[in-house]
Amino acid sequence: MRAVSVIPSRRQLSLIDHPSPILANGHQLKIRTLDVGICGTDKEICHFDYGTPPADSEYLVLGHEALGEVVEVGDAVSDLKRGDLVVPSVRRPCPHDHCEPCRSDLQDFCFTGDFTERGIKMTHGYMTEYFVEEEKYLLRVPPELREVAVLVEPLTVAEKGIAQMWRVQQRLPWSCPVVPNKGPGHCRRAVVLGAGPVGILGAMAFVAAGFDTYVYSRSKSPNPKSELVESFGGKYLSSQTHSVHDLAERVGNIDVVYEAVGVPRISFDVMQVLGMNGVFVFTGIPAWKKKPIEIDADLIMRNAVLKNQLAVGTVNADRPAFEAAILDLGVFMKRWPHALRAVITGRHSMDAYRDVLLGDRNGIKNVIGIG
Ligand code: BGC
Repeated sequence: MRAVSVIPSRRQLSLIDHPSPILANGHQLKIRTLDVGICGTDKEICHFDYGTPPADSEYLVLGHEALGEVVEVGDAVSDLKRGDLVVPSVRRPCPHDHCEPCRSDLQDFCFTGDFTERGIKMTHGYMTEYFVEEEKYLLRVPPELREVAVLVEPLTVAEKGIAQMWRVQQRLPWSCPVVPNKGPGHCRRAVVLGAGPVGILGAMAFVAAGFDTYVYSRSKSPNPKSELVESFGGKYLSSQTHSVHDLAERVGNIDVVYEAVGVPRISFDVMQVLGMNGVFVFTGIPAWKKKPIEIDADLIMRNAVLKNQLAVGTVNADRPAFEAAILDLGVFMKRWPHALRAVITGRHSMDAYRDVLLGDRNGIKNVIGIG
């Protein structure tokens, strides 16, 4: 079957013939791939800055954001059935007995570093016609989310980030008063850095949780992304027209910064205006080998102490984050169907892989339609 793969040792990106997978045990299912999303990580892999093939393979099949349909079910599978739409998770546990996170299905917190990730690290991904996976790594999505469910994986970044934020904020012995039909964040203010897919989906999640949500991104407004953000109740400010101090003045106390841009310069500038008891959530992975930048470490450290601030990094993602993303996509689809659909700005065939992965496409989320 056809698969898009990289051969890092030869610096090659190509469409290859890859063996069709078969079930190896009763807990597995065979999935027909429908959609695969492209993200910055895929592009880095295609530039050979990231990504490792499986130990027994010269190539790595790409793709870690996927939606598929179950076509074959192992006899020990308990819940999923033929015809179900499913989204697979990405990370798989390391083999070490002493790694408690991996032994407790929390491989996103693996501390040995020997985890694998489908389409990224030592396990083939989903940019191919079929894949086989264990039931525990698959999540059913309702058919009404068919056209947007490929966004589940990038939304899990926000879901895990928000879950981490709530956990660390349990240190605060107060919360917003409970108000019917308002989320737990309704008396709080969030700044989202970046208007890419992870930023926009994150902003939707913050708005849905009731936060007064500001997206801070480069392009001057109005532009298609600022209009999209405003269409679901977020506010958009451009870093070209508003300094970080303007941003802080406009927002008031910034309770949370959700960084989804992977750029240290703007991230550490915004960290300077994080509010009292604020949490800064890092999700972006900056490219290697950039020149070190200068930061106002005195100010950042002074604020961290005097304002009880906390910075937390988060990498994808546990099953509850996937479950939360599926639920939230359903909420977004009900509240803002046009905005949600507009996050997918390009659908392409597998033959266009080279252009989609290497080209400099504008837009938000590009998707390769396979099935
Ligand atoms: C993926 C994560 C993965 C991370 C690091 C991201 O693009 O969404 O699942 O853990 O890259 O490899």
